[in-house]
Amino acid sequence: MTDGPVLVLNAGSSSLKYQLVVPGSGEVRTKGLVERIGEDGSDVADHAAAVEQLRRRLVEDGVDLDAVGLRAVGHRVVHGGPDFSDPVVLTDAVVDQIRDLSPLAPLHNPGAVAGIEAARARLAVPHVAVFDTAFFTTLPAAASTYALPRELAEQHRIRRYGMHGTSHRYVSRAVAALVGRPLEELDQVVLHLGNGCSASAVRGGRAVDTSMGLTPLQGLVMGTRSGDVDPGLHSYLHREAGLSVEEVDDLLNKRSGLKGLSGVNDFRQLQELRAGGDEHAALAFDVYVHRLKHYLGAYLVQLGRLDVLTFTAGVGENNAALRAAVVEGLDGLGLSVDAERNGSPGREARVISPDGSPVTVTVVPTNEELEIARQTVALLETGPAG
Ligand code: AMP
Repeated sequence: MTDGPVLVLNAGSSSLKYQLVVPGSGEVRTKGLVERIGEDGSDVADHAAAVEQLRRRLVEDGVDLDAVGLRAVGHRVVHGGPDFSDPVVLTDAVVDQIRDLSPLAPLHNPGAVAGIEAARARLAVPHVAVFDTAFFTTLPAAASTYALPRELAEQHRIRRYGMHGTSHRYVSRAVAALVGRPLEELDQVVLHLGNGCSASAVRGGRAVDTSMGLTPLQGLVMGTRSGDVDPGLHSYLHREAGLSVEEVDDLLNKRSGLKGLSGVNDFRQLQELRAGGDEHAALAFDVYVHRLKHYLGAYLVQLGRLDVLTFTAGVGENNAALRAAVVEGLDGLGLSVDAERNGSPGREARVISPDGSPVTVTVVPTNEELEIARQTVALLETGPAG
């Protein structure tokens, strides 16, 4: 086996995030972001121009893609729909299938398809799609099914899909390594808390529940997304505030969450406001924590027991006060953090609960790019998972 690098691409409608990573060692050769694709006044007209720019940037960084032994390109695709439960080698037919899933992820899949097409035309190595929903295709029907008329749900592919799956998968495996126990034995809850936020319950390495749903709007309070609201809110806003469906969608996705409550979506700013006595920021923090406890409690009961609770992503990895608030008052359920361990800054995976705790609480940095690179290479070496 060669350990050539994998180029991991995350294409959105107007941006192309890239990272050249060595899957075995995890070494990041270079990474960056091409922005403002197709925007007025931008010199990056489309995704093809973005891939050309990426190539030039790599050369500036001393990386010649034709000479570096590039193993493959791994593409992050948000929505794999009901069918893609594993990574897949990209062919024309697969690209068409991903395009067909665009109604399920209108903000994400069209950009991914544009990025995939541009990259496939310019980089003559195998291309693999890794889906953000794939980890959650194992959800039991009771967890993935909305209580809607069956035929309608089937016709429109309405179910809970879950997102951030690449992160939840990577982190739940890293947890097993950290605590030195077989993944198969562990009941886990993973809290991915970044700009987007999601919780998952993972039994023996398989996801059994997650907080995001048909779209990434469901579940936890996020930077700008509301997470759970009363489903009756949409028609109420329509009737009482005269909002259209598009306006409600925009409101709940872009102007709600921490931003709607406090004016800021960045958790660091929220903490500064809160420390300065801002009451809106304080309430935003409390609502955020309340929702987290709601899901933690639900998953604790669904799993029936819990071995490890893990915090990951920007907020989860860096904010000790938030972590302490989530487990506060849960000693009776075996959950607590050691103040010193929780408070000490670190970049590495670590245990923050006291020794001998019934539930181990950990902080594990996520690494979606490395997971995509590894899944890409694993698929090319061993073929599709059974
Ligand atoms: P992500 O989407 O994983 O990049 O996470 C972004 C969120 O993490 C933002 O709300 C940031 O404010 C928060 N964040 C990133 N770094 C830190 C830090 N050092 N301390 C507190 N919050 C952080």
